[in-house]
Amino acid sequence: MAQIQPPQPVRGTQSLLGEEADRFQAVTAAFDRVRRLFGFKRVEVPVIEQTAVFARSLGETTDVVSKEMYSFPDRGGDSITLRPEFTAGIARAYLSEGWQQYAPLKVATHGPTFRYERPQKGRFRQFHQLDAEILGAAEPQADVEVLLFADQLLKELGIGDNAVLKLNTLGDPPTRQAWRDALYEHFRSRSSDLSGESRDRLERNPLRILDSKAHADWPIVDAAPTIDEFLTAEAAEFFAAVTEGLNAAGVRWERAPRLVRGLDYYRHTAFEFMTDTLGAQGTVLAGGRYDGLMEALGGPHTPAIGWAAGIERLSMMIDAPEPERPDAVLVPLGDRAEREAVRLISDLRRAGIGADMAFKGNMKKRMARAAATGARFAIIVGDTELDTQAAQLKDLSSGEQRAVSFDLLGAAIRA
Ligand code: ATP
Ligand code: MG
Repeated sequence: MAQIQPPQPVRGTQSLLGEEADRFQAVTAAFDRVRRLFGFKRVEVPVIEQTAVFARSLGETTDVVSKEMYSFPDRGGDSITLRPEFTAGIARAYLSEGWQQYAPLKVATHGPTFRYERPQKGRFRQFHQLDAEILGAAEPQADVEVLLFADQLLKELGIGDNAVLKLNTLGDPPTRQAWRDALYEHFRSRSSDLSGESRDRLERNPLRILDSKAHADWPIVDAAPTIDEFLTAEAAEFFAAVTEGLNAAGVRWERAPRLVRGLDYYRHTAFEFMTDTLGAQGTVLAGGRYDGLMEALGGPHTPAIGWAAGIERLSMMIDAPEPERPDAVLVPLGDRAEREAVRLISDLRRAGIGADMAFKGNMKKRMARAAATGARFAIIVGDTELDTQAAQLKDLSSGEQRAVSFDLLGAAIRA
């Protein structure tokens, strides 16, 4: 018979166990805690959308749409895409599910996202994002609100000192148009020195050249005109209101006059929390105001702002979380105890005690297993204990052991 090889994972995907999985869980738990503190409602949106949801909203010229999307025809012939990000799907739901009636709507979610990229440290094909959005709010207070959420999350994760908030404005449409024209002129005059990719971007979207990862482009990018020369009074005022809010809340930020977001739909506030602890993958959390997105999807003008953060990148930056451990491990000895064990452990768990069972091997193996879980107690039950209805409760750190009646086990463990 031909030997079947066990399958390998799809490139750029991860399977996590132990500390890596605990890190992931610590990030989502902190996110959920801070989300509640800020009053962002949890939402769920599909992993799959019509391809047009992303193609229209992200813009055909972006990297994500032009080369990173996982798109495929389904069995009915519709073009479906695995979400590369959350914002477009949330905007689609806002329009199609009648969420507009709740505006301004503060929502948050997290889950897997997919991009066909070259896998490397901090860059995967299936990765996971945290996402927060405020939909239907044109006011700079909304920008401040999402930024405060991001800032507090990073601080609670213990990485506040390693992640710097870089802030920019992309202005209103007249500002952006004037800046775009000036950038076009600047880059066109130096086009022979630009990387091939940036030359491609010149005609389609010169702002994107500012985002270039090619070293050759950097001096040309550094010499590019900044948006400040083109800000309208309204755009300048909006940005001032955002920075004043951050200052009032005591959030540190740095102006990054050449920061742009990769996607086309951004206006006004754009930001990234950057780190130098993850090598080339410096952005841990990024977002901005996307007042143009809903219209691109065919909906009414709907100002909105939000951010997304890569869970894998945050997981790598946090301190290793305390491993999870049961409160107690039940060690049944003998046939009768093994039969009774399920009832005993169920009672404990129903009473809110984290309990595990050591059911393999001899007594020594079972006790070693109990100790290896890191539990505080082992509950030893054999024939004698069944006769007296009292277990031997062993404190695994001190080694002390005493008889505790079955009824009082929960209380003794919790004490
Ligand atoms: P990058 O410049 O690193 O490609 P991006 O601008 O494409 O990032 P966004 O679209 O802003 O990223 O996504 C928000 C966050 O999601 C990023 O800041 C990053 O933390 C994370 N992220 C993006 N792409 C990946 C990926 N392929 N693998 C892991 N995390 C990612
Ligand atoms: Mg990218």
